Amino acid sequence: MNSYDVAVIGSGPGGYVAAIRCAQLGMKTAIIEKYSTLGGTCLNVGCIPSKALLDSSHHYEDAVKHFEEHGIEIPGDIKVNLEKMIARKQAVVDQTTGGIDFLMNKNKIDVYRGLGSFKDATHISIKGEKTVEIEAKNAIIATGSKPSSLPFITLDKERVITSTEALKLKEIPKHLIVIGGGVIGLELGQVYKRLGAEVTVIEYLDRIIPTMDSGLSKELNKVLKKQKFNINTSHKVKSVERKGNEVIVKADNKKGEEVEFKGDYCLVSVGRRPYTDGLNAEAAGVKITDRGQIEVNDHLQTSAKNIYAIGDVVKGAMLAHKAEEEGVFVAETLAGQKPHIDYNLIPGVVYTWPEVAAVGKTEEQLKEAKIDYKVGSFPMRALGRSRASMDLDGFVKILADKSTDEILGVHMIGARAADMIAEAVVAMEFRASAEDVSRMSHAHPTFTEAIKEAALAATDDRALHI
Ligand code: FAD
Repeated sequence: MNSYDVAVIGSGPGGYVAAIRCAQLGMKTAIIEKYSTLGGTCLNVGCIPSKALLDSSHHYEDAVKHFEEHGIEIPGDIKVNLEKMIARKQAVVDQTTGGIDFLMNKNKIDVYRGLGSFKDATHISIKGEKTVEIEAKNAIIATGSKPSSLPFITLDKERVITSTEALKLKEIPKHLIVIGGGVIGLELGQVYKRLGAEVTVIEYLDRIIPTMDSGLSKELNKVLKKQKFNINTSHKVKSVERKGNEVIVKADNKKGEEVEFKGDYCLVSVGRRPYTDGLNAEAAGVKITDRGQIEVNDHLQTSAKNIYAIGDVVKGAMLAHKAEEEGVFVAETLAGQKPHIDYNLIPGVVYTWPEVAAVGKTEEQLKEAKIDYKVGSFPMRALGRSRASMDLDGFVKILADKSTDEILGVHMIGARAADMIAEAVVAMEFRASAEDVSRMSHAHPTFTEAIKEAALAATDDRALHI
């Protein structure tokens, strides 16, 4: 039987990063993955394929809607070849997951393909082509999550689908109904909207992207409506029925009246659930909470002392970079180091266009915590860079402590916000004040000037270009 210092179960961004860091720190490491490719949800059916389709559909939309105003004329019709678009996405996925095989090899990590099940706290059986058993002094559970649904919905995975199927449709929906106005629903909704589908979003709460600052929800709602999304907030879905090629969704609106939506596809994107099926966690003494998450303490240690858990399968934001940070954290903890994660500084991003990105506290959270704050805001449309590229929507908003000027939260919507948020994370990591950021030179013309201007606005209302 092979013996290891650490066995990592699951090869998503949490698991494979944990394995690499363990190997870097000199531990003999194994990784176990039940699917044939490494990389987990993020690389196979999550972050990477969704961004590949967002990019392809963005190019198409630019060609159809915006090339002309830039003085680019294309003779003849511009058409989508969906099969080719999906094949390109798959090629990107294959290249990326192949890269993880390379990294495992480079770091001398043994890869086991099969379902990992605990026999006890130090033995794991792996059911693949044949069943093998390994011994591990320590284990890291990184088994991730799966799409969740509503109890009355039958996911036929043909027309009533999850994000996994939405990434490989064979035709462009005529009318895609999206249940859930969160990140995944809006991103995939925008892919098919750009390709020509009518898109209806149904959200239970009173705003889309409800976990983010309400200013971002409001602005994104406005922009998506301009893009002809049909958005229905405060609607409680009660039934989803498939009749042939038609899907009928019934919901109660705010007034309690029944509303009916008819489409040809329905994407159910109401969140994800932690995944522990087949893990046999109990045999190792690992407790699972009522919400199905692996219970961990502040060191990400489970109720079994030598077993840790990270990523989507534990509490906290279901994000790839959060899982990665936790992977590194556990590896370094096992090596006797004292790592640290500031969960307040894990950024959240929506890759629609305009992009939405945020870090730190929202206005709602600051009000609830009774923290006195000031707001500096700057609209993207006032930037020369925005006018040059015709990306005029959105703003940057900085929330700073009223007395100390320390930045407490940064919320932005606009072109390239996903990349720009890194500046806010760095500033907050070093506990910068709004004035600190306002005094730093930002290259002109760039979208990042909106961050400087918002910081100036937060510092005695000193924005220069508005
Ligand atoms: P996962 O990536 O889910 O990996 C878990 C792995 O464990 C899987 O490969 C699974 O097969 C394996 N496994 C499970 N049980 C066992 C077992 N018993 N034995 C062996 N193997 C097992 N996040 C972002 O930060 N940015 C984004 O842009 C983004 N976009 C997304 C888009 C979509 C459509 C979706 C669905 C998700 C997106 N996410 C995004 C979320 C992101 O994918 C997850 O947060 C991330 O993958 C979690 O990583 P993880 O390592 O915890 O688990």
